[in-house]
Amino acid sequence: MVSYKDALEIIKNEIQKLTLHQEEVDLLDSINRILAEDVTADTDMPPFNNSAMDGYAVKFSERKKWNIIGEISAGNYSSITLTKSDAVLITTGSKIPASADTVIPIEDLDVEGKTVSLKPAAKYKKGINIREKGSDLHSGQIAVNQFTKIGPKVIAALASCGKERVKVYQKLKAAILSTGDELIPVIQKPSEDKIRSSNNYSLYAAIAEVDHSPINLGFVKDDKNIVRQKIKDAFEMDIEILITSGGVSVGKYDFLKELFKELGVKEKFWRVNIKPGKPLYFGVYENKKKKILVFGLPGNPVSSLVNFNVFIKPAIDYLYHQTPIIFLTAVLQEDLKKRDNKRHFSRGFIFKGSGEWSVTSKYSQSSGSLVEMSRANCLIVLEEEKLNPVKGERVKCFLI
Ligand code: AMP
Ligand code: MG
Repeated sequence: MVSYKDALEIIKNEIQKLTLHQEEVDLLDSINRILAEDVTADTDMPPFNNSAMDGYAVKFSERKKWNIIGEISAGNYSSITLTKSDAVLITTGSKIPASADTVIPIEDLDVEGKTVSLKPAAKYKKGINIREKGSDLHSGQIAVNQFTKIGPKVIAALASCGKERVKVYQKLKAAILSTGDELIPVIQKPSEDKIRSSNNYSLYAAIAEVDHSPINLGFVKDDKNIVRQKIKDAFEMDIEILITSGGVSVGKYDFLKELFKELGVKEKFWRVNIKPGKPLYFGVYENKKKKILVFGLPGNPVSSLVNFNVFIKPAIDYLYHQTPIIFLTAVLQEDLKKRDNKRHFSRGFIFKGSGEWSVTSKYSQSSGSLVEMSRANCLIVLEEEKLNPVKGERVKCFLI
């Protein structure tokens, strides 16, 4: 059995050996993807001195009254030469004529026919309301760094750099296979001793949520020959990750570990000192052509999703240089039972209390209670050495 920290290190160490491939996509198809290149500005931003306000452009002096000699609106520049007594109506974003150096906002002015004058209470300074050429970024400088995740803010910067297409990292392809004699499809109603297979869905969604490509291999019975064939087939696929659920505990039909070994998977660890999710298996399948990380998750719906959240997601984030888990400190609203030296990930609901975050953990902590888990919004991390935390204690949580 390995510790949580060691297990995560082992996985990170293996995942970083995967080759990150690149592809080029249209800018609008790059949303939520990870940029695979540094993108530099091909022009100054903004490309010209422009007005930050709707107002009048003037050449600075102590004057309070000007003659209106023309107008410039955004995108309709005309090179007007101003003297100190001239003013040009200008709209936000318009290019400033070279002879003007100040924009007085419309709110500070009174316009009367062809003249404009400063309101009695208004003041202005030289150079106000001008956004200078290149003040955001100079041509040739990096606008967006490699490994930035593309969202609304970043895509705007990329568009402004003229990137109609961008290089992004390819998504990881993760196949998901459930095992268990008890499993039936969603469309069937459980009778006797069967349950609907939900892990395919939760793990599929988990991969999709981190913006990679899930492949659903469905579920198979606890029949060695069938499971072996399914895993063999998976190893023939173009995937980087295989996630199985079920069959990695110590029960009579928990033979996945054995099959992985038989099929050439190198075991990196089996069982982690955590709760839930202790039976986690991790190994690496490698042949001349490829490397596949193999995660054998326990079948309990809560355990498998916790495993995903505390191992697979952080490892993928690490591979793509993304922000690690962000922890919040919250005040525990009830006592929690913890009598062992495992690291616990308890289901909680975090909310804003009076100034501080609060977290309630009234949900069932059974690893089979998947509906209870669906109501939780965070995992509460109780470190190995922490025992029976009580109401009022501050605990570390992260959103799920
Ligand atoms: P196992 O890890 O194979 O011992 O499975 C533990 C328990 O997890 C089983 O008894 C089922 O109740 C549940 N389980 C296993 N596979 C699934 C699945 N695909 N979807 C939902 N629950 C599952
Ligand atoms: Mg099973």
